Amino acid sequence: MTADRRPALSRATVDRDAAAREDDGVLAAAWPTAQVLVVDNGQALVSDDGPALVLLPSSDAPEGDRLYLGRDEDSAYFAVAGALPRRSGARPVGLRDVGALLGDRDAGLLVHAVGLANWHATHTHCPRCGAPTLPARGGAVRRCTADGSEHFPRTDPAVIMLVTDGGDRVVLGRQAVWPPGRYSTLAGFVEPGESAEQAVVREVQEETGLAVRDVVYRSSQPWPFPASLMLGFRAVCDGDGEPVPRDGELEDARWFTRDELRTGGALLLPPPVSIAWRLIDDWLQQG
Ligand SMILES: [Zn+2]
Repeated sequence: MTADRRPALSRATVDRDAAAREDDGVLAAAWPTAQVLVVDNGQALVSDDGPALVLLPSSDAPEGDRLYLGRDEDSAYFAVAGALPRRSGARPVGLRDVGALLGDRDAGLLVHAVGLANWHATHTHCPRCGAPTLPARGGAVRRCTADGSEHFPRTDPAVIMLVTDGGDRVVLGRQAVWPPGRYSTLAGFVEPGESAEQAVVREVQEETGLAVRDVVYRSSQPWPFPASLMLGFRAVCDGDGEPVPRDGELEDARWFTRDELRTGGALLLPPPVSIAWRLIDDWLQQG
């Protein structure tokens, strides 16, 4: 059997069913038998058994905007932002902690719900005129109460890249705020008017002084903290220079061999929920 090489938060089984968003009657008819995921500041109730999301019958859901997540053969699914219910054998958990442990359906539901709820919580007013906006189309848009303009959920593209020497070494860096020993791939936001590939070259240069070439896309995953989409790349260092932290973002950056990464020791790699881990692990498996 082939191992699952998808990034942990890029798994989903529920059909987003965008057509249903166009008809409030369809959404209203789905609600009575729907299952509801309650989210509160990025957390959801997760049962220790599995672990698995605790989904409520809609009759038990708190008051709040009904954000349509889609449907599968079992049910329709909505998210509601509100106080988490209490259940024995279950506890509030965030996506970072549980995202890699949930099954495919639950990982997809939670990342969708958290990303959508984050956007609604922070986009309550119209960027054109400042009037309040209200959710529409099952939460897929917000509409201005004054001028009727529609506003769509924002996703901020970021690049994350494993820089190799074309052989047995990669560059990893660490930020001062990370736990002792933690090293990870370089990363940064795509700027306006810039391609993802250009952002890879620029960020590596800014953070380490290294020039890279042969930028190749690998995979992506949503990272709703609060609204990023991580675009994963590999790039090859042009030359055999040493990385030197230079823009204040990293406190250290250095080359590591596969053996060093496998042996571990004091080295702490990023957690499996991150696409950084996926990029590193894929490269380790190839060596
Ligand atoms: Zn407006």
